[in-house]
Amino acid sequence: MSTLEVKDLYVSVQDNNEEKQILKGLNLKMSTGEIHAIMGPNGTGKSTLSSTIMGDAKYHINSGDILLNGESILDWPVDQRARAGLFLAMQYPAEIPGVTNAEFVKAAVNARRPKNDPVPMGEFMKELQSTLKTLDMTMEMAGRYLNQGFSGGEKKRNEIMQMMMIKPSFAILDEIDSGLDIDALKVVSRGVNLMRGDNFGALLITHYQRLLNYIEPDFVHVMMGGKIVKTGDASLAKRLENEGYAKLRDELGLDI
Ligand code: ADP
Ligand code: MG
Ligand code: MG
Repeated sequence: MSTLEVKDLYVSVQDNNEEKQILKGLNLKMSTGEIHAIMGPNGTGKSTLSSTIMGDAKYHINSGDILLNGESILDWPVDQRARAGLFLAMQYPAEIPGVTNAEFVKAAVNARRPKNDPVPMGEFMKELQSTLKTLDMTMEMAGRYLNQGFSGGEKKRNEIMQMMMIKPSFAILDEIDSGLDIDALKVVSRGVNLMRGDNFGALLITHYQRLLNYIEPDFVHVMMGGKIVKTGDASLAKRLENEGYAKLRDELGLDI
């Protein structure tokens, strides 16, 4: 079993010569085998949290810690975190001209293996084909430059394809559901549900309860004002969908 723990994390970002505080004492603990969801209004710091866990240097850690299996990873560069089993599907996946999708995924898969034991080409292609098929994607997508000219929905499917091929211990999926039609949402959810198991944990970041109809979370966290203000089970997401964030904010007596 692996664990990922965020401890009393304070994070700021430089914004026009001003230090802007975004995360304000965020706590979160996950283990493999669990699916967690974070819901929260726009601008509360959900993407900041995911980028900070992955090691984006834009975000300054003022205090607190991030622990993978009990060890602090704050000094680790992004690639070391990826090799150790962390994966982030970004809210806005980057386009990388000149690198094909298949090349990119193969490099990422090999980065997680010993240097002298790269994945055999035949084995890689076979798995890539079956993964693409599972996600209703064509082999043609694998030969295209990474995310270039992909539609919003194709980018999101492609992030799930990468996740399934790389097999991280922890996947953070930042608004993987945004901009998806219902068919694409089902496909993306199928991918996550196939990964479910003892060696995999996921953090689903979403505005909407809809995604959680397809991927049932074990824990739902509400984030407001840069921290987790309430944790519950799947019913908490349903409640939020019905009542909105304002009611919870009043109930908790929050001034944010
Ligand atoms: P969410 O994902 O919950 O919508 P974000 O983490 O994207 O929230 O943003 C939280 C707050 O931090 C917002 O006010 C946003 O404008 C600000 N912010 C995030 N990244 C930057 C940045 N690189 N520069 C300036 N402000 C930022
Ligand atoms: Mg947002
Ligand atoms: Mg965001």
